[in-house]
Amino acid sequence: MSAKRSIVAASLALTAFTGLAQAKELVVYSSRQEHLIQPAFELYTKNTGVDIKFITDREGPLMARLRAEGANTPADIFMTVDAGNLWQAEQQELFQPMESKVIEENIPAQYRAESGQWTGLSLRARTIAYSTERVDPKELSTYEALADDSWKGRMCLRTSKKVYNQSLVATMLESIGAEKTSDVIKGWVANLAAPVFSDDTALLKAIDAGQCDVGIVNTYYFGRLSKEEPGVKVALFWPNQDDRGVHVNISGAGVTKHADQPEEAVKLIEWLTTEEAQRVFVDINMEFPANDSIEPSKEVAAWGDFKADTINVEVAGRRQPEAIMLMDRLGWN
Ligand code: FE
Repeated sequence: MSAKRSIVAASLALTAFTGLAQAKELVVYSSRQEHLIQPAFELYTKNTGVDIKFITDREGPLMARLRAEGANTPADIFMTVDAGNLWQAEQQELFQPMESKVIEENIPAQYRAESGQWTGLSLRARTIAYSTERVDPKELSTYEALADDSWKGRMCLRTSKKVYNQSLVATMLESIGAEKTSDVIKGWVANLAAPVFSDDTALLKAIDAGQCDVGIVNTYYFGRLSKEEPGVKVALFWPNQDDRGVHVNISGAGVTKHADQPEEAVKLIEWLTTEEAQRVFVDINMEFPANDSIEPSKEVAAWGDFKADTINVEVAGRRQPEAIMLMDRLGWN
């Protein structure tokens, strides 16, 4: 620990000496909320002296802004959630490739773009949530099985307009094929107990309130709700443990195509993959570390171990148009 400190002190001294070559400020466009990113950025500034300015908004407006600003953008980094969104940004040529051994070593290939244009920084599973009052977990097995008649009038879903569901369906298309995927979606829609929800928290509350018995949500929403309401009568289930595993997606970032300081931007992203940063960046939202040498926080680990799907998350982007069309056609609003 003390050896590490003196290295930091030495590099800070060097920085002061070669101050002109050092970036004074990086600009991040982030669809992640301020309270989720600020603690990590403050720590980075404390470590390096590099200031980080950020603008937060939804991913759509931020991508539109990057397109409109073009070469004049102040942004060095674009940060967002879901491989489906990161892939979209790559398609719109908003990123440039990062060449980084650090990122390659810290983040498994399945959570990064093959092109090197973006990388995952945290992980979230999109899994089954169920009522602990009305469901015996023995009744649960796979995402597909929620299409069975036994779940008629018992299922809740979030809207198909949300990228999280588009990514889930895109990876199903890749894993089990279009025919089976469409049968599953038909079943889910037929089993709905209520109109689709606009967010995962409302869905979890509907299960708790008895409106439905099962649903599909991102893990951190369950984490937040069970922290706020420890008595919530909902639990998580890990499906597909005998086959492909649970759908896992990412939050991530890449260096913008027109970054003024691409090398400094890569350094910040590299740091975000290290243990020091992962603890701050990942634990704050009850996510799983994307760096697979790091254990999740105690509260996240308490949900139990599970087998995660090993599919490359790029599939979520590549098959997104197909997923959207299919959900639309089968009446998933
Ligand atoms: Fe979310």
